[in-house]
Amino acid sequence: MILDLTLTKLQELGLTEVAAVLEGRAEQAAKSELSYIEFLNELLTEEVLARQERSLRTRTRLARIPSPKYLADFDFEAQPGADRKVINELATLTFIDRMSNICFLGPPGVGKTHLALGLVMRALEEGYTAYFTTLDQMIADLRRAEINHNLPKRLRVYLKPKVLLVDEMGYLPLDRAGANLLFQLVSRRYEQGSIILTSNKSYGDWASFLGDPVLAAAILDRLLHHSVTVNIRGESYRLRNRRKAGVLTAPVAKEVVPAQ
Ligand code: ADP
Ligand code: MG
Repeated sequence: MILDLTLTKLQELGLTEVAAVLEGRAEQAAKSELSYIEFLNELLTEEVLARQERSLRTRTRLARIPSPKYLADFDFEAQPGADRKVINELATLTFIDRMSNICFLGPPGVGKTHLALGLVMRALEEGYTAYFTTLDQMIADLRRAEINHNLPKRLRVYLKPKVLLVDEMGYLPLDRAGANLLFQLVSRRYEQGSIILTSNKSYGDWASFLGDPVLAAAILDRLLHHSVTVNIRGESYRLRNRRKAGVLTAPVAKEVVPAQ
């Protein structure tokens, strides 16, 4: 039968979505006024959309995002420290093609990770590859790889994606070997791919969490050469909401902040 023959050819060509919808669409088209070209275009559009969706799902899975956050859900009114114009400009994603970096700095809870993940979700939607890690996870992983003589292969996980999000730099200090691994990563991504990072430390404090002022300077030099820093000075969104609900009073909040 002609339908079966057509389906077999579609499968051979890898047009699986067209194959899935062909029978129903052909019946509809017979009753409608679609031209042949319009009918073909409708089928191919289905295929393209299905492929885009599949690609987005695959890239999102490979990005290892802990929980997706969207820029549309970020309340700029609640966080005057985050400039909506700057974030909207970053959301055009030109930084990815320029292979430049973005650093979100600020105290806990001000939305650094949310904004960083929001940009990563945009990048994924636009067809880029991305990868999420925390600094500690990445360094521990690279350390294990080094011990197992597997460092070049493991480094590729962090070098290949167009956007690498390194979350939570500065919560735990690195030793010299750890800082060395970070240096290797940063210098190899330099002008090759974007890094988005978040940190609760200002650049002046990086020497102390990286343990070595010379390495810290070398890392910062490469990170910041092509980069945008978004400094968010504000109060924690979580605490703000709890305070608004009357759960916290201001003096208690001060004690809670460092424990976050
Ligand atoms: P940080 O990384 O700076 O410590 P997060 O981005 O993890 O802070 O924010 C803490 C929580 O508060 C997250 O669930 C985040 O989605 C939410 N949040 C923070 N700021 C905002 C904001 N301005 N609008 C909406 N949600 C926010
Ligand atoms: Mg965070």
